[in-house]
Amino acid sequence: MCRVTKTCLVVDDSKVIRKVARHILEGLAFTVREAADGREALDACLAEVPDVVLLDWNMPVMSGMDFLRALRDSDLPTRPKVVFCTTENGMAYIRAAIEAGADEYVMKPFDRETLESKLQLVGMH
Ligand SMILES: [Mg+2]
Repeated sequence: MCRVTKTCLVVDDSKVIRKVARHILEGLAFTVREAADGREALDACLAEVPDVVLLDWNMPVMSGMDFLRALRDSDLPTRPKVVFCTTENGMAYIRAAIEAGADEYVMKPFDRETLESKLQLVGMH
């Protein structure tokens, strides 16, 4: 462990989901920042690269997929891990998301246990 506190950027156009995710993540001792779409998320990453990004798929302005592509094309000093959030209906997108650079996915709605296990899978907890 090189840092005591891990940072997570929560990206979702739903304020409620961001709030739920923040609550869980802070309970897991993460420092949390929020972004409401992919564009805001990209700006946040350019300002300071988080350790992990929790990424929604459907968002206005810039989708999760477009964010992944932009992240891949950017020249950030380090790469954040990306856990991509999807719903039952979005199962078909998982492969595309992984191919675009996502490290893991989590089904919405997620609880503390599920999110914690996914974060463990990407080496974050
Ligand atoms: Mg959404």
